[in-house]
Amino acid sequence: MNIILLGPPGAGKGTQAKVLEATHGIVQLSTGDMLRAAVAAGGELGQEAKAVMDAGQLMPDDIMIQIISERIGQPDCAKGFILDGFPRTRAQAEALATMLAETGLKLDFVVEITVDDEILVDRINSRVAQMPEAERRSDDNAETLRKRLGVYHEQTAPILPFYRDRDMLKQVDGMQSIEEVTRQIEQVVSAV
Ligand code: AMP
Repeated sequence: MNIILLGPPGAGKGTQAKVLEATHGIVQLSTGDMLRAAVAAGGELGQEAKAVMDAGQLMPDDIMIQIISERIGQPDCAKGFILDGFPRTRAQAEALATMLAETGLKLDFVVEITVDDEILVDRINSRVAQMPEAERRSDDNAETLRKRLGVYHEQTAPILPFYRDRDMLKQVDGMQSIEEVTRQIEQVVSAV
């Protein structure tokens, strides 16, 4: 089973991807985690990623497409994968379709986790307030979130029709408890 989780930053894609990973034995491919690992490793890619992430912007499409095309070819992805944070632009969505066609892989469905912007801003404010300073991520604040939401609406939301037109898009209301969102995603999984 190969799935994409879409939704604005903070909607819970990572949390739900981890649940799917544990319950279905498929691997979570989080491009954000891959970039944070590159930042921690400290190379050239990491330096660029840090600047881009702190600004709430997106990394160039060619870099992200390269990263994902290498990753989905690895043996642990053969059982299936959950794309969490990719694709984020129309060019990435098109490149992914080509990549999957070339490798004979099939996308089962795309789940859009919907959450209103103001709820995401409230969530980040209360999360940051509860967190010790040392644990805060440099892109984890309301100001960067607002920029990231702007980028989401401008560059990522336009890929929703791409999947809707292909009859692959399933929407789940992300403004419910984590357990309820999981339950609704499971309904989608069992209907496939
Ligand atoms: P995430 O953890 O998925 O919210 O990603 C954190 C940050 O990494 C994003 O705000 C972007 O700057 C960058 N990023 C992650 N995935 C992508 C992608 N597919 N395309 C471009 N930039 C990305």
